Amino acid sequence: MTYPKIDKKVYERSLEDYREMAWGDARCNWCMNQWGWNVKSSKYSEICPEFRYKRFFSYSGMGKFHIIRALLEGDFDFSDTEKLLEVSYLCTSCGACEMNCLRLNEKEPLKAAECLKTKLIEMGIAPLPAHKELLKSIKNYDNPWMQPRNKRRDWTKGLDVKDFTKEQSDYLFFVGCTPAFDPVIQHEIQNTVKVLQQCGISVGIFGEQEICCGSPAIRIGDRETFFDLVKRNIDMFQKAGVKKIVTHCAGCHHVLKYDYPEVPGMPDIDFEVVHITQLLSQLVEDGTIKFTKEVPMSVTWHDPCHIGRHCGIYDEPRTILKAIPGLKLVEMERIMDQGWCCGAGSGVRVAYPEHAFQVASERIEEAKATGAEAIATCCPYCEQNLREPLDRNNEKMKMYDLMDLILMAL
Ligand code: SF4
Ligand code: SF4
Repeated sequence: MTYPKIDKKVYERSLEDYREMAWGDARCNWCMNQWGWNVKSSKYSEICPEFRYKRFFSYSGMGKFHIIRALLEGDFDFSDTEKLLEVSYLCTSCGACEMNCLRLNEKEPLKAAECLKTKLIEMGIAPLPAHKELLKSIKNYDNPWMQPRNKRRDWTKGLDVKDFTKEQSDYLFFVGCTPAFDPVIQHEIQNTVKVLQQCGISVGIFGEQEICCGSPAIRIGDRETFFDLVKRNIDMFQKAGVKKIVTHCAGCHHVLKYDYPEVPGMPDIDFEVVHITQLLSQLVEDGTIKFTKEVPMSVTWHDPCHIGRHCGIYDEPRTILKAIPGLKLVEMERIMDQGWCCGAGSGVRVAYPEHAFQVASERIEEAKATGAEAIATCCPYCEQNLREPLDRNNEKMKMYDLMDLILMAL
């Protein structure tokens, strides 16, 4: 059966728009499991990190449809708040349910689940206290981490990075709040700049004037805050004459490229957004980047959900890794569109840190099973969350950002 598409932008939809999808739920369970032909072991046959650890259907994509149906029909009401909030917010927006459901049943369980969060906020019963702090910080500091604006550029010390507001470059590097302020992962953006400069690509940043892309707000369901950030960002891009944006942060990339156009009544988007892996894989393929140093190491690749499933960027990082002399890429069981989430997204790490740790620990076990010496990725949240089990358990496995490996080989 061909399912009728909702003829509205994603962020003008209300919960009511998902009524037909919710009633049409097929109870097929594909939103919880790997595609049959992808399964290599029963241990790694699941795909929804929430159902995996809660073992209750409500936490899955299917369960969310049933909750939405029941709420729309008045089978139960929004006053059963505590559990409803947990079921709604214990979701990393990894997109696995939607990837599998769209293929088979043409439904959008994740978009419906995010709309449920918006409804809960509109009713004044959400978000969670931990999320309120993030949103308050975005309002007061333009970043979710309560960091002063004048520290946003500190990571550039010792680097020669242009200020895009004063001097035009080929690309605006949209840095993102998390790597700009977390010293443990600042190497990701410092090395991004070094790699781009070594490749002869001119990049500038907004520095202290950069503001949050809005990803934490919209993943939590706060459309009002998100719409405001979208307007302000687009205004800044237009005033500065930005035509091409390069991102490293997977969350920023997803939101700038695919969520901004879904906001109703926004000014025309006349800039291109490219992820660093797309830009660099192109340069590897056309011979512009020539790796000159060996990196003798076996590495497994963790697909960040927000560039992987949400943007279809699977081959580009692998093209780069395979071109590095001496590096051997060994794959985990769950990869690409069937990849296992790191467990951090959509405010899960801040609100449910132990759950996020469990999900990350499972990924590290899966990575270790490949025999690889290192795990690599290209997302600040994935790196933060996957580092935790590695550090807590004193694991021998090393963690790299893709930019670290590229720099070693250049
Ligand atoms: S894959 Fe879609 S239709 Fe099937 S159970 Fe999950 S949400 Fe329902
Ligand atoms: S988006 Fe991911 S975590 Fe959320 S319900 Fe779907 S599969 Fe589970």
